[in-house]
Amino acid sequence: MKYQIEAQPFGAYDVVVCGGGTAGCFAAIAAAREGAKTLLIERSFTVGGMLTVGEAGITKFSEHCRDVDVYKCEVLDELGRAPKKVQVVRGLAHEYVKRMIDSGMALGTHGEAGSYVFTDKAEAQWVLMQMLQESGVEVLYDTRVVLVNKKEDTVTGVVVCNKEGFCEIGARVVIDTTGDADVAALAGAPFVVGATEEEAATGFAKEAGEMQQFGTMYRVRNLDFARLFDYLRENPDCFVEHQFGVMSLENVIESYQRGEMCVFRINLKEHSPDRGYGYVQVYNLPERDEAILLGPCCADAKNANGLDSRRVSIAQYNLQRGTRILTGVLKEHVPGFENVRITYIPDVGVRETRHIVGEYRLSVIDVLSGKDFEDSVACGGHPLDIHPLPKEVENVDLNHWRFHIPYRVMLPLNVENLLVAGRPISASRGASGATRPTAQCMALGEAAGVAAAMAVKENKTPKTIDVQALRARLLENGAIV
Ligand SMILES: Cc1cc2nc3c(=O)[nH]c(=O)nc-3n(C[C@H](O)[C@H](O)[C@H](O)COP(=O)(O)OP(=O)(O)OC[C@H]3O[C@@H](n4cnc5c(N)ncnc54)[C@H](O)[C@@H]3O)c2cc1C
Repeated sequence: MKYQIEAQPFGAYDVVVCGGGTAGCFAAIAAAREGAKTLLIERSFTVGGMLTVGEAGITKFSEHCRDVDVYKCEVLDELGRAPKKVQVVRGLAHEYVKRMIDSGMALGTHGEAGSYVFTDKAEAQWVLMQMLQESGVEVLYDTRVVLVNKKEDTVTGVVVCNKEGFCEIGARVVIDTTGDADVAALAGAPFVVGATEEEAATGFAKEAGEMQQFGTMYRVRNLDFARLFDYLRENPDCFVEHQFGVMSLENVIESYQRGEMCVFRINLKEHSPDRGYGYVQVYNLPERDEAILLGPCCADAKNANGLDSRRVSIAQYNLQRGTRILTGVLKEHVPGFENVRITYIPDVGVRETRHIVGEYRLSVIDVLSGKDFEDSVACGGHPLDIHPLPKEVENVDLNHWRFHIPYRVMLPLNVENLLVAGRPISASRGASGATRPTAQCMALGEAAGVAAAMAVKENKTPKTIDVQALRARLLENGAIV
């Protein structure tokens, strides 16, 4: 069935950023600070997406080292002496995190440039709102992008739907930061969903189209950390080092006592073998008895499809149920958890849907080999966060590394005047396991925002701007490229 709609004019902007989440906020702030008249469109009533509403951690500002001792002397000590040597993300993302850590609204492992940062959710949203306001970004909440206007291959604006009905918004450049490449798909840009045939054949997925599992990071109070640490000291088999946070139990306890961030896992296999809860990840928060927990508590995790509304809706219920079952297991079996109370469960967390096909497709080998690019606009230090890791990658030395992300991964093929930043950039499934973490999304958002403003200022398109000038501007603004 075909419908005809009438859209009323809403306004025209230099840069329209669609999706006010992790990448979108930083894209909008960056574009506005460069002088572009910028509109940020967000379907919910708040900003930050997975970064705030989803409770994801901010990982990683520094290079990664698998080994605690090597990490301590080659990364953490360097952070104190010469941070620029080991830091992989600075710029706007660092400004945001520093602002929160300095005022006690967030905790970081080893300060603001370390490995993990977790925040007070309400404050994390508020600081973003303030930064958007201070930069002069107009934010349109409760508004969903539903159509794209094009003249031949060139995007000229978007149509949105909100309480006013349908509204048409003109844009010199559009940035898609919806997390699912909704705008790119509406514009007719090519994309793949989940794993490709080739990725399935090489062990990156069981079958083509497979997407990463749903999940949630939920918040509890009344966790007695002192009692939990005593239990873990007496039962060392129950402590499991966090695979990306790299902290021994003693590091964890020292960090907690210093009022810093600590990350670790608790082995639950013995207590609930039938339910398959292998372990739960624990992240402390500025409130001393509060923590974020991540456990495999979604029954639908294995058939995840974030583009299937019915499946997402079923998963939303099952996830709420699963967190309660998991919390029950912890209360019953792990000292320290006896009196915990769930205080917040985010919506179902979607890890993977569309990957656009862009001017360059970042491969897992590019990431693992730390390949540098002439048009690199962001760096990362996150290991491959895909489950399970394919065999060919398991043997690669993931011990100490940084990788680079080229500008071209944000430029979809066949469409002009559109940039895509955040989770759905043009990267293979394996590579996006390292590029989808929050710090990389923020850095890519910043790069997209500066690029869009530059295109407007110079009357060019994102594909024709001088990328070396973009890199120079990002460096000038404090980013790492
Ligand atoms: C359970 C889970 C745990 C995670 N844990 C970590 C972690 O510990 N550390 C880490 O670094 N990363 C983590 N990640 C990954 C990381 O959080 C995400 O990959 C990243 O935040 C994605 O950023 P984004 O900007 O692409 O999307 P999002 O932050 O999801 O933002 C997308 C925004 O667009 C809006 N939107 C969507 N569609 C439309 C539309 N059509 N119109 C208008 N607005 C729209 C949404 O409301 C949202 O605000 C986790 C992810 C999950 C799911």
